[in-house]
Amino acid sequence: MSPRSVLVLGAGMVGVSCALALQKRGFAVTLIDRREPGRETSYGNAGVLSRSSIVPLNNPALFRSLPAYLGNRSAALHIDWRRLIGEPGWMLRFLWEARPGVAAERMAALDSLTRHTLPLHRALMQEAGIGHRLRENGTLKLWRSTQGLAKAQAEQAMLARHGIETELLDRQALSGLEPSLRPIFPAGLLFPGNGSVDSPGAVVAAYAALFGSRGGIVRQAGVNGVRRGGAGWLVATDQGDIAAEQVVVALGPWSADLLKPLGLRPPLGVERGYHRHLQPRDGAALRRPLYDVEAAYFMAPMEQGIRISSGVELAHRDAPDNHRQIDAVVASAREALPLAEGAGEIWRGARPTLPDSLPMIGEAPRHPGLWLAFGNQHIGFSTGPVTGEILAALMAGEAPPADPAPFRPGRYLA
Ligand SMILES: Cc1cc2nc3c(=O)[nH]c(=O)nc-3n(C[C@H](O)[C@H](O)[C@H](O)COP(=O)(O)OP(=O)(O)OC[C@H]3O[C@@H](n4cnc5c(N)ncnc54)[C@H](O)[C@@H]3O)c2cc1C
Repeated sequence: MSPRSVLVLGAGMVGVSCALALQKRGFAVTLIDRREPGRETSYGNAGVLSRSSIVPLNNPALFRSLPAYLGNRSAALHIDWRRLIGEPGWMLRFLWEARPGVAAERMAALDSLTRHTLPLHRALMQEAGIGHRLRENGTLKLWRSTQGLAKAQAEQAMLARHGIETELLDRQALSGLEPSLRPIFPAGLLFPGNGSVDSPGAVVAAYAALFGSRGGIVRQAGVNGVRRGGAGWLVATDQGDIAAEQVVVALGPWSADLLKPLGLRPPLGVERGYHRHLQPRDGAALRRPLYDVEAAYFMAPMEQGIRISSGVELAHRDAPDNHRQIDAVVASAREALPLAEGAGEIWRGARPTLPDSLPMIGEAPRHPGLWLAFGNQHIGFSTGPVTGEILAALMAGEAPPADPAPFRPGRYLA
């Protein structure tokens, strides 16, 4: 076993970022995934590198929208009632965390992560030779209704308190930025501090290749369990046991499955989402991702076409697809941009979410050498690199780039 050997389980954005950050600090790192790097949740997201996403879905405003959500009348959130009836625990804890008393704390914690999004990704993309995939022209949030202007102004004021820059847009200013959009949005915000990429899966693959080019080992194997053994830990895979002094669990929405036999039960839920690619028509083009607030979808220009991604579906992680939300938002997207008939395959993913909408970053209680890095919910593509930096700094005994206290595993694990 190499000195300071670490096995990182999961090669999504979070695991690959942990592997790179540990490697930089001199650890001998092996990265394991049952698939190629970046083929699951980190593949199908909207590719937004967000500075501005500091308000979790379960914020106090959720209670105002609850009647529409509970009746499944909004494309933003769809609840699979069989889950709520069969397993009310996670959803009730998620709702409880929307109470006003904790909102400022949550936002401060998310702010401490998203402020690192662009600087870290920019550096990694340069090192990985994929600078051409990065767009630094911001993202848009657009309102169709006349109340949009007041909402945009309120959001602008709130984000300004966190030092997050925004530009208020009227119909004309928006058409200057995105000439192909139909004039259905009287108000909007530009977030100039956000970036985006044209293929999230390719970005993760390039980061993993960078890790490999620096001597890191990438293994394709299914992980079945983890137990103490040897000089630290033994990870059981479908290709036999692998030993290491330390292990990082970065299995995204599958992380809790592995921890259960150890008596560690993080309340990890999932917020599922879907995407579909459509091709622009009549020479239309989109220059940056946009969020259509009232219709509740992201539309992002990707290598494969225009990616439309849906809001949140609260259902069991492995329950069969329900295409109601993605069908509804594809129809709404056609109102906003000229899009050709026909659409690509439907992709489904699961945002890994803890009830307080903050990730778990740190050492597992009672299990020295077992480290946790998961639960990055809606912004794990953005916050993967800073998650890796925090975790690797803690493992190396250095000062992390953000206060790790809000993310400590002990808040949910005894
Ligand atoms: C529709 C949608 C849109 C989104 N949009 C954005 C966005 O625009 N910006 C943003 O920042 N975030 C976005 N997100 C969130 C983001 O995609 C996730 O937070 C992030 O990808 C989580 O990364 P991860 O590495 O934790 O998980 P994953 O990417 O899922 O990685 C986990 C890895 O573990 C592996 N694995 C699991 N079990 C095993 C096992 N037993 N053995 C071996 N390997 C295993 C999987 O194969 C996988 O590669 C979006 C999510 C969705 C669903």
